[in-house]
Amino acid sequence: MGETWFRNFLADQQLHQLLETVDADLAEEARREGCCYCGGKLHRADYDRKARGVPQWNKRYSFCCDQDDCRRRRTPESVRFLGRKVYAGLIVVLISAMMHGLKPERVRRIREVLNISPSTIKRWHQWWLDNFVRSSFWKAVRARFMPVLCEETLPWSLWLRFELEERDRLLAVLQFLRPIATAAATDSRKAAFERLR
Ligand SMILES: [Zn+2]
Repeated sequence: MGETWFRNFLADQQLHQLLETVDADLAEEARREGCCYCGGKLHRADYDRKARGVPQWNKRYSFCCDQDDCRRRRTPESVRFLGRKVYAGLIVVLISAMMHGLKPERVRRIREVLNISPSTIKRWHQWWLDNFVRSSFWKAVRARFMPVLCEETLPWSLWLRFELEERDRLLAVLQFLRPIATAAATDSRKAAFERLR
């Protein structure tokens, strides 16, 4: 794991397209299922949502029920957006992982290239340690990992556990984390996710 490796991910148009396709499939699946509340038809009502770091991602797929007495929104899971963070999920995951896997000097250089402030990185770090570890999502899935994952070094420890080639690994980690993308919208008990920035 190094700077070149990281830059390759950022410049990897095929990877970006792959993640876009996964999100489009997730959206199509949700659309076919229809409204969870009344079974009504779903109409596209995407959010404007910029993903810093991957400028071409500017819409988050979302739907609205067509029934007048319902009109509820349904926002599918996503591998591109992580909660409400303003940076693309892949950047949040990679940089947060690198903080445990790379020397601080190298993390600083990458951070500067991407123009991410030290306070943002600190906030992400705190989010993994605190909000993520306490989330109902993590409580429900952490038992799958044997031996137990080190929570202090998330998401690096998670990254190491997916023993795949690099691009597949990134996709697997983002797929694993994707329920977080909708947690804020669907579960008020997960109010912690509202604070994701
Ligand atoms: Zn409905």
